[in-house]
Amino acid sequence: AVVAQAPCIELNDGNKIPVLALGTGRGTAKETETLEDVRNAVLWAIEAGYRHIDTAAVYGDEEQVGQGIADAIAKGIVTREQIFVTTKLWNDKHARDQVVPALRESLKRLGLDYLDLYLIHFPVSTRSDGSPDNIDYLDTWKGMEEARQLGLTRSIGVSNFNLSQIDRLVANCQVRPAVNEFEVNPTLTQEPLVSHCHSLGIAVMSYSPFGFLVSRKRDDAPPPKYDDPTLGAMAAKYGKTPGQIVLRYLIERGLIPIPKSTNKKRLAENINIFDFQLTEDEVATISRFNKNTRVISIEAWKDYPNYPF
Ligand code: NDP
Repeated sequence: AVVAQAPCIELNDGNKIPVLALGTGRGTAKETETLEDVRNAVLWAIEAGYRHIDTAAVYGDEEQVGQGIADAIAKGIVTREQIFVTTKLWNDKHARDQVVPALRESLKRLGLDYLDLYLIHFPVSTRSDGSPDNIDYLDTWKGMEEARQLGLTRSIGVSNFNLSQIDRLVANCQVRPAVNEFEVNPTLTQEPLVSHCHSLGIAVMSYSPFGFLVSRKRDDAPPPKYDDPTLGAMAAKYGKTPGQIVLRYLIERGLIPIPKSTNKKRLAENINIFDFQLTEDEVATISRFNKNTRVISIEAWKDYPNYPF
């Protein structure tokens, strides 16, 4: 059977990254969803053509992600080399000499011997009890560079870094970050940060790609919702769903969306976006939904050093 495939782009370190990743964060998981669902989702995703999986130590599902990958390899669908695995360093492991051990722990849980991409999850550092710490992310980055040097990960990058944090990092690093992963969707279009990262050769992975299209359990959620008429008209024109229109919008902007699903049908739907294109006008129309409203803002860290938002 012919399955959908996402093309790859080249990172600033020469490695290739598929432009669509499966999200495995648990933030939008229904109460009935179990960790076993993550294992199945990863296998189904690879069967449907996904070659990039996004996880994180803090999601608590690296083990199931690894099992799903192992299942796919055992079934002969892919080899390890054909899969791009991204995971992330949590805030309480920011000291330079904690980075390599934390990465090794992630590898052990994943059952892998190298990562494709390791990210600093947030610029904010905390103690293990979650209280604020004050470790400079430049020190954390030195640990990331060591991890890459050791061959534990092929690429290194960051997540949730704002514009001035990216500039400070780029001005003070040996190895430039290959990626910045942050929220981009129709209500948070992030043009300045996206174009800044792109101008520095840093690829952008966009999390929470559906924004408020999907339920966020918030009464004040701004449009577009799933039944938005503007998205609906584009969906009808191309024979796609509103979700596919939004993912394609992110692709047109040169981003790497990370849709999460544990549903077999929606997993297949979300990668079936590489057989059509939106016009420049349609991209501009979707960008006009922008409200600079975040799905993820983590208000509890507002007063912590290096809070990015
Ligand atoms: P998403 O925008 O991916 O939305 C996920 C929700 O949408 C789920 O409820 C899912 O339900 C539903 N859904 C998926 N596909 C469709 C579809 N085609 N139509 C309708 N509904 C759909 O949100 P997330 O916040 O989960 O972000 C995605 C990923 O980004 C995370 O899983 C994680 O990997 C990453 N992330 C990274 C962060 C960071 O700090 N670096 C922060 C937040 C997220 P169902 O599963 O039932 O299909």
